[in-house]
Amino acid sequence: MTRDNELEAFEPPSGGAAAHVVRATVPMPKRAKYASGAERDAFRKSFFPGATRAEWNDWRWQIAHRVTSPAELFRHINPTTQETLAQSGEFPLAVTPYYLSLVDGGDPACPVRRAVVPTMQEAVLGPGEADDPLGEEGHSPTPGIVHRYPDRVLFLATDFCSTYCRYCTRSRLVGRGNAGSVRARWDKCIEYIAATPTVRDVIVSGGDPLTMPDEAIDYLLGRLQAISHVEIVRLGTKAPAVLPQRITPGLVRMLKKHHPLFMSCHMMHPRELTPETNQAFERLADAGIPLGSQTVLLAGVNDAPDTLAALFHGLLRVRVRPYYLYQCDPIRGSAHFRTTVSRGIELMTSLRGHTSGYAVPTYVVDAPGGGGKVPIYAQTMLGYDENGLALVNYEGQVYHYPNAQLPLAATAGQMAQPAAVRSAMPAMETS
Ligand code: SF4
Repeated sequence: MTRDNELEAFEPPSGGAAAHVVRATVPMPKRAKYASGAERDAFRKSFFPGATRAEWNDWRWQIAHRVTSPAELFRHINPTTQETLAQSGEFPLAVTPYYLSLVDGGDPACPVRRAVVPTMQEAVLGPGEADDPLGEEGHSPTPGIVHRYPDRVLFLATDFCSTYCRYCTRSRLVGRGNAGSVRARWDKCIEYIAATPTVRDVIVSGGDPLTMPDEAIDYLLGRLQAISHVEIVRLGTKAPAVLPQRITPGLVRMLKKHHPLFMSCHMMHPRELTPETNQAFERLADAGIPLGSQTVLLAGVNDAPDTLAALFHGLLRVRVRPYYLYQCDPIRGSAHFRTTVSRGIELMTSLRGHTSGYAVPTYVVDAPGGGGKVPIYAQTMLGYDENGLALVNYEGQVYHYPNAQLPLAATAGQMAQPAAVRSAMPAMETS
């Protein structure tokens, strides 16, 4: 097979490819409750009675048997009026059988269900909402590349995902089947990166790059790492959550060849931390791939202190560092998913200081219009002057941090100061 033919064969399967001080005393949960493999077996026998366990555990079987129509979906869930009316939604529907097995069919508030089942609320265009709220199209020098920061680019390798999240920032792109020829698009993207020496970090995302075959991923990573100024590559994926079967020993063996390789995993709720997902993370971590999680803050899904703490603690136990907590982007029809930013600050305050720093991600707003990620912090700095800083800690108590007083060190005979420096700091010399 020629390289051209190989690349065409890499096409993914069809189907579209402030000042705010909050005192919080939130009890930390003990351990996340993991769903059992036995529950998955019971689901398979009930809804896919012809499937063997071996087929169920094959990622290609999972993709081939995605649930893509409301009729199939409603075999498993008892739909609400909002869900029934959303049957002809704009944004495609797809859920892997595995991820559907995590949905509580009898509970409209089930977090996994809310993430993947369309409702009529998606049809409501709220103020400030847009199809491309981050202005990515305006930062795209060639189709498939978003270049917003000086030293890194986003490489949209595919428009295909195994499961479509209803709050997806790129819902204008994913699942539309508009990616065209992978070969032609990838070549142009790689040419752009090779011709742009400031780019040292490439984030391969989509869509979900781990829906592509091993050979395609291997080829793409090899091409990127052959560019001398590309120092690191990151893969952005939701596969460990929605398609953990994808993390095969063969995949991780191949990925291991491409260090330094990082992975950003999109994790949303502790219910996703099943034995299958945890095993997937263990395999990736054992292959030496630094793992981070990017979590979108979603109203009624994960906007509770104990939910976030259970998720972040559970991730750390399988060696995944909670990296970012994203304020949900104002995409079209997202109002029912978006919390206020003040709620996000409260949630972060409920974590910081109450648990280990490794379990506390950075809370960011991706600035609409293309301003990039902006960290949002609760107010911990009450004021500062030349003497130091007044701080409030996680219990609401105030402390003082003194600035270094260099002349004192000189007085102790540890540092000789030139006369010019001494005369520039009269106030400090007398303190
Ligand atoms: S996995 Fe990522 S790219 Fe795919 S639908 Fe979900 S949020 Fe969008």
